[in-house]
Amino acid sequence: MHRDELENHLSQLLDTPRFRDYCPNGLQVEGCDNIHSIISGVTASMDLLEAAIAAKADTILVHHGYFWRGENACLTGIKKRRIALLMTNNINLFAYHLPLDSHPELGNNALLAQKLDLIETGRFGEQDIAVLGKPSQAITLGTLAEKIALKLSREPMMIGDPNKPIQKIAWCTGAAQSYFDEAAQMGIDAFITGEISEQTVHTARESGVAFLSAGHHATERYGVQALGEHIAQKFGVKHQFIDIDNPV
Ligand SMILES: [Zn+2]
Repeated sequence: MHRDELENHLSQLLDTPRFRDYCPNGLQVEGCDNIHSIISGVTASMDLLEAAIAAKADTILVHHGYFWRGENACLTGIKKRRIALLMTNNINLFAYHLPLDSHPELGNNALLAQKLDLIETGRFGEQDIAVLGKPSQAITLGTLAEKIALKLSREPMMIGDPNKPIQKIAWCTGAAQSYFDEAAQMGIDAFITGEISEQTVHTARESGVAFLSAGHHATERYGVQALGEHIAQKFGVKHQFIDIDNPV
């Protein structure tokens, strides 16, 4: 498939023009015209680029790309080395941030819900990315934490009483701990996100709403994989997800 065809398709599918994001969504670095083999990953780190080159991919698809708002725009140091490697190897880099958190089927939040048997009942937060919902069956905080450890292969950090029954819940993948105050006022029993801050612990204790920090990387592995699979099936190209582990 031609690169433009893929970019147009993904722009429509993920409704990228709707989002005010911290980075450009879509083709961030232009490589070859025709796409045959895609590697997906959470972050376009040097390790992922090298793995994609070893796999002879012509395109990389990520959730965390480059050119973040507020960062030094110059192509120096780490940024120069990454982009030079892509350009020397004629590899396309596609990145989708908030549109890939938000998508109702292929999004990180929808897929985290699937993993943890949570049912979506509504959305909240900036641009309606965070999700309100309930567990598909009665569960305690402790059991939910065990489920996260099992399904995401990562022990979460839990703030709250493990015996607490969880009926109403909210979640948002990645670093969404800043949504916790808003979420805690909506009558939920627990909030799940990827990262935790010092003040999150106090909010959890004082509001009585439990908090589970399940890993930024761990909670955001699934959207980009699902998107890669979708592209492979629709356009008949090769796709492989490469997990470059990250403890955060
Ligand atoms: Zn993220």
